[in-house]
Amino acid sequence: KEELNIIQGALELRTKTVEDVLTPLSDCYMLSSDAVLDFCTMSDVMQSGFTRIPVYENERSNIVDILFVKDLAFVDPDDCTPLKTITQFYKHPMHCVFNDTKLDVMLEEFKRKSHLAVVQRVNSEGEGDPFYEVMGIVTLEDVIEEIIKSEIVDE
Ligand code: ADP
Repeated sequence: KEELNIIQGALELRTKTVEDVLTPLSDCYMLSSDAVLDFCTMSDVMQSGFTRIPVYENERSNIVDILFVKDLAFVDPDDCTPLKTITQFYKHPMHCVFNDTKLDVMLEEFKRKSHLAVVQRVNSEGEGDPFYEVMGIVTLEDVIEEIIKSEIVDE
């Protein structure tokens, strides 16, 4: 029974898209690029429990960096280090994908690149020129959950 489920989940990777499984931007835990890594911010980050945290500039839809929580290992909260110092030091490449990327293609990309990708779409509604719009984030775990068709409880 379980195996059948997994086979079906695997077959569906070819038809489902990242849009079906993403975490919407409104639910993303993020930091503003002008944040300061004081005790308050660092304990908030730790409490969020996430491994990777998108960093935005001015507005949440403008993601400019990804902070890995492990980058904070050598940061002393008493130093009140600007977040920018850390992101500019590590410079993790941003992994962006389009909303219509099929999950089998996404899985292949996750094998080669960061396990968190920013999902964007082309917004051609309205009168102005079409523009790229961030919809949310997708991680390897979101794709694996589609294959096994059940939630993975976070540690
Ligand atoms: P983590 O290692 O941080 O637990 P996972 O890659 O295991 O993250 O993803 C677990 C779930 O949490 C996925 O549904 C993913 O979309 C979501 N997720 C990952 N990072 C964030 C974040 N910064 N804010 C909100 N949701 C996130």
